[in-house]
Amino acid sequence: MTREDFSAPTKRAIAMRSGYRCAHPECEGRTTIGPAVDADKSENTGKASHIFSASDRGPRGQGNLSPEDLRSVANGLWLCAKHADQVDLNDGKDYPPPVLLGWKAVHEFKIAREHGAMLNPFGWIESLKIVDAPIFKPAQQISFANANVLVGGNGVGKTTLCEWLSCLAGSAALSRWGAYSEDNARHSDIEVEFEIRAPTRQRAVLKVISGKPSITLDGKAFPFSPIGYEVVTLLSAREVQASWEEGDHIYIAKRLNIDAIEAQALTDFIASDQGVFLKGAAWEDVQDEDAEKPVRQLRCNLMKNFTQLFRTLSGGETGAVLLDLAVARATILSTYRPTLLIVETSAISMDPVFLSQFLEALSSPLVPFQSIFVTTELDEEAAWGGWQIIRLDRQNSEGTEIALG
Ligand SMILES: [Zn+2]
Repeated sequence: MTREDFSAPTKRAIAMRSGYRCAHPECEGRTTIGPAVDADKSENTGKASHIFSASDRGPRGQGNLSPEDLRSVANGLWLCAKHADQVDLNDGKDYPPPVLLGWKAVHEFKIAREHGAMLNPFGWIESLKIVDAPIFKPAQQISFANANVLVGGNGVGKTTLCEWLSCLAGSAALSRWGAYSEDNARHSDIEVEFEIRAPTRQRAVLKVISGKPSITLDGKAFPFSPIGYEVVTLLSAREVQASWEEGDHIYIAKRLNIDAIEAQALTDFIASDQGVFLKGAAWEDVQDEDAEKPVRQLRCNLMKNFTQLFRTLSGGETGAVLLDLAVARATILSTYRPTLLIVETSAISMDPVFLSQFLEALSSPLVPFQSIFVTTELDEEAAWGGWQIIRLDRQNSEGTEIALG
């Protein structure tokens, strides 16, 4: 049996990334260092726990990681003594690696914010609590990381959660909930609470009662969200009825839910060092022989150093270009406002290797906006490390239950 223990410098890096505070959500960031009885000594009660096991017979398996990876800072989670013991109990079955990776992502995100390094000062959504609402079992709460994936079958409420989150940016998302509908039967009363850091902690309560929406912020009610908040979405072609006939600028505008001028300016803005797949682009007006008038088309400079017309790309490549544009937009917005990127994975139809490049880029604690990917099934071959997995599941008539991991 071999063990891949952390070196002393690795342990220290894990502790420092964690602010020497326990990353278990129950501890709410309690410190693990402090004064010792001896006046010139300090005490450390924290431990660097392995996310994937140090030993090949360890509780959580080694997830095909190399010995170097198992010994790396990325595989360490800083916990207080109590929680370090707790996660290894029962062979670690209650705490699989995705759960621990989720805690680490959330905790390091908070520490990075508090530390203030390179992150935008404008805040993010910390949690959402369902007080009472259709579809969901009442009194449930989700804490969000910087990168989150909502997983669940059709009709469990994934879109619903995204619509509620979108209400912080505008009320349009409430139309499906019968807001101001004349049909009383469509009214669904909703009460959802958000904890927002903007940058101080604020509590926003979204209510729709008998078709009338309101947002209460720190005890004061408003007809719409007065918080400067941005939601960047990438919509499926079918959902927005995007077609190529009107030109690529109209197509991109519809998929990104922006106007055609912004779509063109945004693609012109993409520089060669940006984007995972898209490294630059130029607009062309192409006159087909049998067409009445020219059609505006986008020529894309792509990752592998070649250019291709946007409309001739494969489905996955089209998704990659659109996701690069959505990320560029979210990056710009997040400099001035809290920003959330919402992406339905079905709208980008990428293979796992391709998708993983985006997942790795977006899960960095230095990304200045939050992301939520929405999917019916988690593609296990894609790199979800650092992503908080939020599962929605409905077993019975009590409503959808939310679980992490
Ligand atoms: Zn703890």
